[in-house]
Amino acid sequence: MSTPVDLLVHGASGRMGQRLLALLPEFPALHLVAAVARRTSGLGLPEGLALPAERLAEAPAFGLMIDFSLPEAFDAALALAVARRAAFVSGTTGLVPRQREALEAAARQVPVLWAANFSLGVAVLSELVEQAARALPGWDLDIVESHHVHKQDAPSGTALALGAAAEAGGARPRYASLRAGDIVGEHWLQFASAGERLELAHRATSRDIFARGALAVGAWLAGRPPGCYTMRDWVAGKRRA
Ligand code: NAD
Repeated sequence: MSTPVDLLVHGASGRMGQRLLALLPEFPALHLVAAVARRTSGLGLPEGLALPAERLAEAPAFGLMIDFSLPEAFDAALALAVARRAAFVSGTTGLVPRQREALEAAARQVPVLWAANFSLGVAVLSELVEQAARALPGWDLDIVESHHVHKQDAPSGTALALGAAAEAGGARPRYASLRAGDIVGEHWLQFASAGERLELAHRATSRDIFARGALAVGAWLAGRPPGCYTMRDWVAGKRRA
């Protein structure tokens, strides 16, 4: 077996960060060297692995960063990954255009994969949506997303990414957002015309699908040439493998 990739998890104390840490043992190709969070007490990690965000610059050497944090924490994380020439995987949503541009600039130096959603089902849904939009010119398209009450951004990053796929197929999506209870993430799309409707839906019932997806993608991305990779690239790589 080849040497594991040294991994830094950024946003380690969050809902997603905790699932990343819990599922890491399933990925022997990855070796945790640092878990960064605003508050590190209660992470339950061995001595030396937890690193408070204000000491991010002191992180030990790593070859891959996986970031699930918040837009205000994102810039420092990306800058460190570039400075260390490490692969960068991020699922942080609500990024502003300047941050998306920074990702593209970083991709000239390191391999980068940002995704609004790390589930295989949504990667396939995105392909279906583009195909449907192309085949149904002039139909109305509504994208309705539901998430837990703590989610800060709306529409969700996944809804916007599905909308971008629909736009690539010629549709003009409208968005609606619901925030209720502990919903992990649901996306429902309706193409409608006079006399008929086509519906597509994805329901995430566990954050583990996103965490497993991000860990698998990270193991795949580390060591690749610099560039902006997508979940579709990863799915295509899986199909070829
Ligand atoms: P959360 O609020 O539970 O956790 C946020 C994490 O970021 C915490 O560890 C916190 O310590 C850290 N953080 C906050 N401010 C910081 C700062 N200034 N410096 C350093 N660290 C800081 O959020 P969550 O539910 O885990 O979601 C995190 C992000 O991931 C959100 O943007 C969410 O929308 C997104 N998300 C993406 C996917 C996906 O598949 N792409 C899935 C779920 C959530």
